[in-house]
Amino acid sequence: MAEISDKYWQAICESDAGFDGIFLYGVKTTGVYCKPSCKSRNPLRENAISFSNTNEAESAGFRACLRCKPA
Ligand SMILES: [Zn+2]
Repeated sequence: MAEISDKYWQAICESDAGFDGIFLYGVKTTGVYCKPSCKSRNPLRENAISFSNTNEAESAGFRACLRCKPA
C-alpha cells in the first residue's frame, strides 16, 4: 500500500489500460479498489492509494470494484 505517484495518478486520470496488471488503486472513502483503466469517476488524489495486487488490497480491507472487476 503506497501513496499514488505522479505516473500512477496520470494513468488513473487517463484510464490507461497499459497500467492494468501493474498496479491497482483503492479509494479510501469508498473502500473499493479498481484497475487503472476503470471508467468510474476518478477519486480525489488524496483519497487514492496504490496496491501492487488484489491480495494486498483485500488484506487492507478493500473490496473489488463491480465495474472493472480487478482480478
Ligand atoms: Zn473499478
